[in-house]
Amino acid sequence: MQLSIPQQIANYIAGNLQAPIDGNYLDNINPATGAVYGQIPDSNIKDIEEAVGAAKAAFPAWSTTPPEDRFKILNRIAELIDENLDILALAETNDNGKPLWLSKKVDIPRASSNFRFFATGLMHTSTESHSMEDKAINYTLRQPIGVVGCISPWNLPLYLFTWKIAPALAAGNCVIAKPSEVTPMTSYLLSIICREAGLPSGVLNIVHGNGPNCGSEIVKHPDIKAISFTGSTRAGKDIAGIAAPMFKKLSLELGGKNPNIIFADCDWDKMMRTTLQSSFANQGQICLCGSRILVEESIYEKFKEEFIARTKKLTVGDPLDEQTKQGAVVSKMHFDKVMSCIETAKEEGGKILLGGEVVKMTGRCENGYFIQPTIIEGLDAQCRTNMEEIFGPVVTLQSFKTEDEALQLANTSDYGLAATIWTQDVSRAHRVAAKVHSGIIWVNCWLLRDLRTPFGGFKNSGVGREGGWEALKFFTDPKNVCVEL
Ligand code: NAD
Repeated sequence: MQLSIPQQIANYIAGNLQAPIDGNYLDNINPATGAVYGQIPDSNIKDIEEAVGAAKAAFPAWSTTPPEDRFKILNRIAELIDENLDILALAETNDNGKPLWLSKKVDIPRASSNFRFFATGLMHTSTESHSMEDKAINYTLRQPIGVVGCISPWNLPLYLFTWKIAPALAAGNCVIAKPSEVTPMTSYLLSIICREAGLPSGVLNIVHGNGPNCGSEIVKHPDIKAISFTGSTRAGKDIAGIAAPMFKKLSLELGGKNPNIIFADCDWDKMMRTTLQSSFANQGQICLCGSRILVEESIYEKFKEEFIARTKKLTVGDPLDEQTKQGAVVSKMHFDKVMSCIETAKEEGGKILLGGEVVKMTGRCENGYFIQPTIIEGLDAQCRTNMEEIFGPVVTLQSFKTEDEALQLANTSDYGLAATIWTQDVSRAHRVAAKVHSGIIWVNCWLLRDLRTPFGGFKNSGVGREGGWEALKFFTDPKNVCVEL
């Protein structure tokens, strides 16, 4: 199989690669060049109807396919992703603006890991049994839900798309999936891989389009019984408003405003290196990035000086260049949003310690969307800059005197996705971890991921958990059977 990047991509419905029924397309733009380089289907309810029909037809056979056979197909998809690493990584970078080395090292390998993980996971599931001694035995059946919807964002395109699809398919569901319209190419290439891997027609349907015309039609469709969504808190709220009264199962992975709490007794070098990554990796466009850096007062000035010096060395450049550490942000719309957040920070009295400006490139990237890594101090915990998600290469610094103050600052947020804690004091690490209001806590590390662990946030960061059994449980309905003895 030879993958290639076409000028116009197609929907994947009932095993076919097909044009949108109404023939409408959206432009696909490379954010590093600002140029339109392709068209993607602007699908609507008609395409969704067709996809749901195909998924319903495929469900009886797929849901009863023996686990060994489902494993073989899903594992083959993982192998084909690995075999096509280079072209998938290039497609991801052209869509997203992230450095090519990052797509190769993180995004695409993680997409194959997602399939491999849930392919093997489905071979090892077991369900509960509750004995009532000599009276009765209860056992739990976990049955696939039917047709489910998976909607994903642009920041880690294939990585997050497969993080939903793989467990949904492993559990025996048929899927209607929509990638972000901003970064559709790798999911299109995945449709070709799925055909090649022998995934039966209709089991996975990938429909391209935007939120209002396509995503919301997935959410509204009465035959789609569960929605797994990753994206903004704003869209999550709209989705919950539609899906909750229909009693759909909902998994919502939403925004974050994560604190990075640095105590004076930390392992300095490791903390500095990791904080640079947790602040600016993927241009700060990872929901898990630590955008509020809280530093113990006694080391605040030292931290500030060294952090600025290290950040200055992050090369902003063409994502195709191996030396580039920071690529383009994902779109003109997002570029404008991040720049307006920097203006807001200034209006709120924030001092720009570093960055804050557009990076003007020459040559191929002269019309691309590049922003300097930006560090801001002097803002209070409750200002908009510290409360609202920016989702770009922008962090703020705040200092604290005591552990209690650190916790208070950390928890002054409507979000509760992730937090990072830096200390060598084991007791403090556990104490603080237990008191921070976030679903994911890293102690002396960041983004160290074990796919078996529960993944998700508190408060406005969402509802439900992904990962491991949590995902397989989400994508199945438990049924208790009680047999009197
Ligand atoms: P977004 O909410 O604009 O879009 C996400 C997806 O939902 C896209 O496919 C979009 O087309 C679709 N969509 C938009 N509105 C919809 C609607 N009303 N109904 C159905 N579908 C709709 O988010 P984005 O800008 O693509 O992604 C950035 C956001 O995602 C950030 O807030 C970030 O924190 C969040 N995110 C969260 C996690 C997590 O795991 N918690 C991971 C990555 C990104």
